[in-house]
Amino acid sequence: MEKVSTNLTKRCKKCGEDRELSLFKYTLTRAEALARGYKAEFKVQLEGKTCNLCKKKRRPLKALRASELRSRVESGDINEATYEHILAERAKSAKERLSANMKRYWERALDMEWANHLKPLKNEIRLVTNQHFNGMRKDNKEIVAFAEAYLKALLRVQAQLAIKADNREKVDPDHDWRKDVTDAEYDEIEALELKIPVNTRIKMRRAQLLTLKSYRRNPKAEGALLNTLKQAEQHFNPSAKAQVGSTVEKLDTSWLDEL
Ligand SMILES: [Zn+2]
Repeated sequence: MEKVSTNLTKRCKKCGEDRELSLFKYTLTRAEALARGYKAEFKVQLEGKTCNLCKKKRRPLKALRASELRSRVESGDINEATYEHILAERAKSAKERLSANMKRYWERALDMEWANHLKPLKNEIRLVTNQHFNGMRKDNKEIVAFAEAYLKALLRVQAQLAIKADNREKVDPDHDWRKDVTDAEYDEIEALELKIPVNTRIKMRRAQLLTLKSYRRNPKAEGALLNTLKQAEQHFNPSAKAQVGSTVEKLDTSWLDEL
């Protein structure tokens, strides 16, 4: 005889609480039903002595291994379609996980590539920042003015490249940050450098930007030179012509495409 507190509630053997009857009902799996001698043509529901809140929860189907699911199919608890569905979902999410991992891998590799590509620029910014700091400390107005203008251009170029890096654009290994400095910036920095007294200037570290004149993108000058070479080519003898030809090829004319 069950100890029924009322018609609607029942006292749990484990927690001692009076709970609704429905909380004591449980359904047997097909295997359990068969083991207990039921024919198991229908779901067998029983009323237990402990409430469902006290019972250990059954492992959900999702948590079962493939072999365990298989035996559930064998025992008739789940059908073949459910089994296939669960395994298919599992394969799908594994595939998704894998492609997400691959994506993360490539993104990380690209971020690394960008970091390496931006290293020379970062280094220049660090050194010019020091130069600016020392200029301030020594109250050297020429150095401060030069370093300020140079830093401004460097930080602008860095910000421009950072946008590309954030958008995970492809890294162009041939690209030099100095090509992103405008002619106006170049001229200003060059002029300010010349204002630094020679005695100080010769002891200073040379600005990376100013080491090569060719980083100044001067379309007019380069275009004029190119024209002169082409004209000369028409008048020269074949061997000289070949020489001029190779000189023309060596000229960096990539800026022409940007015009
Ligand atoms: Zn209980």
